[in-house]
Amino acid sequence: MAQLPILRYEEKIAETVEKNPVVVIIGETGSGKSTQLSQILRRRGYTKAGCIAVTQPRRVAAVAVSRRVAEELDVKLGEEVGYAIRFEDRTSERTSIKYLTDGVLLRESLSNPELNQYSVIILDEAHERSLNTDILLGLMKRLVKLRASNLKVLITSATLDGEKVSRFFSDCPILNVPGKLFPVEIQHSSERAKSYVEASLKTAIDIHTHEPEGDVLIFMTGQDDIEKLVMKLEERIKNLEEGSCMDAMILPLHGSLPPELQVRVFSPPPANCRRFIVSTNIAETSLTVDGVVYVIDAGFVKQRQYNPSTGMYSLDTIQISKVQARQRAGRAGRTRPGKCYRLYPSMIYEDDFLDATVPEIQRSSLAGTVLYLKSLDLPDIDILKFDFLDPPSSEALEDALKQLYLIDAIDEDGSITHLGRTMSELPLEPSLSRTLLEANECGCLSQALTVAAMLSAETTLFLGQSKNTEKKRKHPPSNLPDGSGLGDHIQLLQIYEHWHQTGYNIDWCKENNLQVRGMMFVKDVRKQLCQIIQKIAKGSTDVHPSSVLKADEDGLLPNFAIYHELIATTRPYMRNVCAVEVHWVRPIIAKLDKLNISKLSGGTRLSDEKVESETLDLPKDDNNADAAQALDDRESRILAARERFLARSAKASK
Ligand code: ADP
Ligand code: MG
Repeated sequence: MAQLPILRYEEKIAETVEKNPVVVIIGETGSGKSTQLSQILRRRGYTKAGCIAVTQPRRVAAVAVSRRVAEELDVKLGEEVGYAIRFEDRTSERTSIKYLTDGVLLRESLSNPELNQYSVIILDEAHERSLNTDILLGLMKRLVKLRASNLKVLITSATLDGEKVSRFFSDCPILNVPGKLFPVEIQHSSERAKSYVEASLKTAIDIHTHEPEGDVLIFMTGQDDIEKLVMKLEERIKNLEEGSCMDAMILPLHGSLPPELQVRVFSPPPANCRRFIVSTNIAETSLTVDGVVYVIDAGFVKQRQYNPSTGMYSLDTIQISKVQARQRAGRAGRTRPGKCYRLYPSMIYEDDFLDATVPEIQRSSLAGTVLYLKSLDLPDIDILKFDFLDPPSSEALEDALKQLYLIDAIDEDGSITHLGRTMSELPLEPSLSRTLLEANECGCLSQALTVAAMLSAETTLFLGQSKNTEKKRKHPPSNLPDGSGLGDHIQLLQIYEHWHQTGYNIDWCKENNLQVRGMMFVKDVRKQLCQIIQKIAKGSTDVHPSSVLKADEDGLLPNFAIYHELIATTRPYMRNVCAVEVHWVRPIIAKLDKLNISKLSGGTRLSDEKVESETLDLPKDDNNADAAQALDDRESRILAARERFLARSAKASK
């Protein structure tokens, strides 16, 4: 094996680590960061006082890399070298180099906050900026102070902005490991094909029939398109004229593949055979497959992101960033000059691609992130003082804490509640989770699911209306349900139930000016959904003109309402509004009285700072009996609400 670039810097690396608690190492993908750093430090004696931990954002990488290192050291995997991923721990007492996912290291820090078992912690692939890695970066900052004498932290990355991380760690040194890369010729398509799977197929066959030997790495987005492409490729290659080109071998590579199939890509190919590796972006920086000369990049990746207007997370196929595109192209030039076929025009690359991938923390709901931090039960964590590489504003963090407290996800001491734990498991904005959990308790989960699903697509449901503007919404034709005076949510519920009764009839949608695609989307979301969002607001903001909830004859709006979304145009408006009675929300609002934000944040000190209190001017309840006690009686509340609802619907349908 030719010497890996990083090994030429062994002396320098060892020296810098010796002198500094934190070192950032930037090196081209394939230069040996993941497999060699741990071995270098082992040679330098760092495993005598403890174990070396190397984190990976991806499970597959943790397994594959540890396997490789065990091989190189000629030891049995699970003994000196092992790995730990969720639900699978292949380490033993003898393990001195341990590869683990960043999530597992976070979990380990619960039972052992100082992570005393480790003498070195390497946060690998930091450029991925996974939420877990970001949290770990914050924890490491604290840990190196606590364990100044016996802990070394290394942060490695292929592309990360090293300066920023270095600043974060009080200007720690940055080592750049220049990797040898051969030139890669980049070819852009003149336009984007309708189907990137078909376009990739065509390009792959073109390479196979026209280009000299060398393996082909094709980036797809997930198991589905990988399987599709593998099948089509097999078919096409089988039908090529016999003897017209060399043999071919097609290898899928993705996270759901059994490990023994994953490692096939690392075995040397048979002679006179071209390999096609069809992979997710795991081959972008996590795993290096030798022998690749051609890269086909359709420019897409699957990414989990949060959509603030629906309160839901979804796994979307999105455009990659410029940094990712360059990484992908670089994979073609590791052993000799290569070629990268980008299936998109250079204009799109220049104008449309983001410069860098958005860190996961910025693609997440902040309340969700804070709840996640709380769910980790990390001791002594003060959320407001938590060191994030890209810190959210403290107002936003305070808001998140308040919200979590109001919806009972955390208690007044800032500890996560049982309910909060359930909520943290759901891929939904916490308040949406909470609502659906509550609806479940109240026996109206089905309705709540419908409303949530309708809301997620609502802007596209009514044809010819733009609900995002303040222009008056043309009201749907009168034969559509009107909400029976109970507001937009009920109207949405009624519309969906009506549609359901027609057997999801498409013509019915058309007749009623409902967008068919939107309604089908709702049906789909509803199927996927398990929860609903609502925020509790006091009536200080205006109701959006599009709402069916109107002021009464006296021009008065309800004092209290719940809304789905707050939008600011010329001024803040609540959209999708529904009146509520104050005593329904009083106990929740009353909680603000006792609110101590530093306690919510996790700060333990009993500060002499003034306890923040936001006393709200609540109108006196009409039936001024013991409101609190009455409210304890959940059953009767629900019954009363149901009765009122039924009475009003009966009145409206007369
Ligand atoms: P980096 O982390 O800097 O991207 P790695 O340490 O993962 O680099 O890989 C260094 C080199 O080791 C790769 O270029 C590849 O040639 C080889 N390698 C890594 N993992 C394996 C494996 N599982 N099987 C065979 N070779 C491997
Ligand atoms: Mg690596």
